Amino acid sequence: MSSKASIAAPSTPKREPLSSSVYDELGLERNPDNLYLQTLDAMLCAAEILEVPHHIQLILSQPKNEIMVHFPVEMDSGEYCLFKGYRVQHNNALGPYKGGIRYHPHVSLDDVKSLSLLMTMKCSLVRVPFGGGKGGIKCDPRALSFTELRRVSRRFISAISTQIGPDVDIPAPDVGTNSQIMAWFADTYLNITQGLIGNDSMAVVTGKPLEMGGSLGREKATGQGVIDVLAELLPEIGLSIAEATCSLIGYGNVGSWAGKLFTERGGKVKAVMDHTGAIYNEGGLDAIALDDHVRTHGGVAGFEKEHAAEAITEDQFYAVPVDVFIPAALEQMITAEKADLINCKIVAEAANAPTTPAGENILLAKGIEVLPAILCSAGGVTVSYFEWVQNRSNSYWDAEKVDEELNRHMVLAARRTQLAKHRYNVDMRTAAYIGALEQIASVYKLRGIFP
Ligand code: NAD
Repeated sequence: MSSKASIAAPSTPKREPLSSSVYDELGLERNPDNLYLQTLDAMLCAAEILEVPHHIQLILSQPKNEIMVHFPVEMDSGEYCLFKGYRVQHNNALGPYKGGIRYHPHVSLDDVKSLSLLMTMKCSLVRVPFGGGKGGIKCDPRALSFTELRRVSRRFISAISTQIGPDVDIPAPDVGTNSQIMAWFADTYLNITQGLIGNDSMAVVTGKPLEMGGSLGREKATGQGVIDVLAELLPEIGLSIAEATCSLIGYGNVGSWAGKLFTERGGKVKAVMDHTGAIYNEGGLDAIALDDHVRTHGGVAGFEKEHAAEAITEDQFYAVPVDVFIPAALEQMITAEKADLINCKIVAEAANAPTTPAGENILLAKGIEVLPAILCSAGGVTVSYFEWVQNRSNSYWDAEKVDEELNRHMVLAARRTQLAKHRYNVDMRTAAYIGALEQIASVYKLRGIFP
């Protein structure tokens, strides 16, 4: 059923690299390999098409605040380690800064800056009243014990406690963090600010465990948002999930839920790759058994020993013919070289910024539609918004209401993007940025610039 790519937009124009004066005015060097500049380029390209006033382009081109902290933590051995943490607050014109905290050895300021810019755009596109932020700690969470992880998490939140809050900046999970870590974040914040703020201060963090004010449906929300977008847009190319095949990079929170929900709707997950290896089954992998395997063994490697699957190489993984290719791991994985191998109709970016500009140009030239992260991976922040609303109103929603509301936000964002694509004759990434900028630019116009 899968065939060589051909679809949606044989006429989709390639996005040209930008010559915006913003770069010179802000003194930004034009390094094509820099993730922040790549993200900025995509945003500014849409801003030019939409004729967003120049001063708003300038404002959106730099984060409002870049916070960097260093803090010591006692390790189980009795020795002390110094950790580096970041919180970048990109923009709060639409509401409090919002975005995940990542634990990864390669976290850097530029990465966190680009992810915070993506969050501003994502919240604006799905029309939730939040701005964009992102944070991280440069560490390997797999190498830390449970108690070390707890001390690192508490020290980080105490270091930035004056900069966050339910009305100011609201962290959430990202790569390497989970609901347990969010529970430590919330508890630390509550202890530090005791008596100083209202009793809805649990709303300082989202992605919390249910028992601590988390929302039903938050854990699966990002994966589910990807599926909601695909269900809305696949018919445009004469497909439905029930008859589609996909492959996935990453089988963590986002990838595993995307895989399980894709299968639940009748689709086939033909191949999965993560940091431990790659597996394949032409007839479809058992997505639930794979989830169990990853939880027990820490990755997909070895799944083929007990289930219907075969181990494949990285290049073989990229070349598996599928309808939908879903990167759900880290940034910049689809390089030009990998894009050359990919054989699909649609790339659905479940991860943030997984496609390099060179990779994207190759995909577009092959007629492959790229559904950008600010659309596809916005399900998580949308349900985070629902969690925040529930915390603040002290009333909790059932799972059906969460699913229904999430679907409404995702479908409207997908239609908004599709509309901009047709109206401006642009690729889906540019269209999604246009959909986001329409909102934020009009808010700036109404608010004006203080004083
Ligand atoms: P996670 O830590 O749960 O999973 C990350 C996955 O990436 C794992 O399966 C890991 O094996 C895989 N991976 C890491 N390095 C790899 C490599 N070199 N090659 C192949 N696979 C590799 O993280 P997550 O929460 O699922 O986040 C995944 C992506 O989705 C990130 O880009 C994140 O920013 C984005 N995202 C997450 C959320 C959320 O709610 N968790 C929301 C929006 C966007």
